[in-house]
Amino acid sequence: MTHLHLNPIYAEMPVTVFEHMSGLARTLGAINLGQGFPDTPPPPALTAAAMRAMETRSQQYPPSVGVPELRDAVCAFYARTQGLALAREQVVVTSGATEAIAAAILAVVGAGDEVLLFAPAYDAYAPLVRRAGGVPVFIPLSPPAWGYDESAIRAAITPRTRALILNDPLNPTGSVASAEDLALLARVACEHDLVAICDEVWEAVRFDGRVHRSLLAEPSMAQRTIKIGSAGKIFGATGWKVGWMIGDAALAAVLAKAHQFLTFTTPPMLQWAAAEGLTDPAITAALHAEWSASRKVLIEGLASAGFAVLESAATWFTCIDLAASGIALDDRTFSERAVREAGVASIPLSALWEGAGGPTTIVRLCHCKPPAMLEDAVARLSQWRASL
Ligand code: GLN
Repeated sequence: MTHLHLNPIYAEMPVTVFEHMSGLARTLGAINLGQGFPDTPPPPALTAAAMRAMETRSQQYPPSVGVPELRDAVCAFYARTQGLALAREQVVVTSGATEAIAAAILAVVGAGDEVLLFAPAYDAYAPLVRRAGGVPVFIPLSPPAWGYDESAIRAAITPRTRALILNDPLNPTGSVASAEDLALLARVACEHDLVAICDEVWEAVRFDGRVHRSLLAEPSMAQRTIKIGSAGKIFGATGWKVGWMIGDAALAAVLAKAHQFLTFTTPPMLQWAAAEGLTDPAITAALHAEWSASRKVLIEGLASAGFAVLESAATWFTCIDLAASGIALDDRTFSERAVREAGVASIPLSALWEGAGGPTTIVRLCHCKPPAMLEDAVARLSQWRASL
């Protein structure tokens, strides 16, 4: 066999836990509460807008930074929902938030640069930092509150630290950084001249009644924050892969250079449709009400079946603690067995935790599913647990 010289970062990497679990769910016909996506189609108005744009507007390359209508709609959306004053030049449209994360990391991180990550961390961050030549430095967050610890953060900083990646609200825990956490992170970023790469894709999926607050809005953070958002999460249309990154105009111009040699641009019909969706508050309000109701079904179902549900405030995910639920399996074993034996796919939290020392008894379940499916999943899990 020919020996190929492939990059070991990828050659030795498994497929993502999300792909792995969705693959098993498809093969086994299991209920998929693993990878996060709604089962219902996106709002009809959004689909109609995409089809109208496809039929009546250009299907050629849009501007690399995005169509003006979407860049303006993103600014108006954040003015309306988060009180931010942004201008079109600050917005770069990307093919999903994952591309925005990659572009931001490539634009910021160079050889030997250290990047602070908080564990549990979304699985794309560390490999992308490494591929950019950087070194991920993990700072653990402790359950059940998943708060940010000042001394741990300060101890992790060295003269090589260049950036931090903040996922807030946090996938997989559904927790939200407190006002004190944000003030602390802003203080540390300013003191040490760090860029803050803020993955805020869950900003519109909050169930605590609070307005999302970005690190970008903290004092002195406007110049050094990259705020990343996702139409897929806002509209429950994860396959659309429309996202964006926002920074001060000078920073956005550099981010745009990284984006132009990744995907260059994003399908224009989806950009125009996302722009229409962002300008209609009724669309997001209806989705939010639907997700809020299904979340309640899963949480209440799990609790009454005797599963220990962790507190959460946001995201499409609910976590259960296995040990506290009387289940003597670690999270990976639980997920691998539950998909096969109970017919329910889940995500073991330790898959989003590099190295040892993290919690191994927490499993993530996706709740943006039809209530009957969630009830069926709880019944299956509960029956299976009785057989363990
Ligand atoms: N963000 C999704 C989740 O957390 C996964 C997306 C993906 O599979 N790349 O479930």
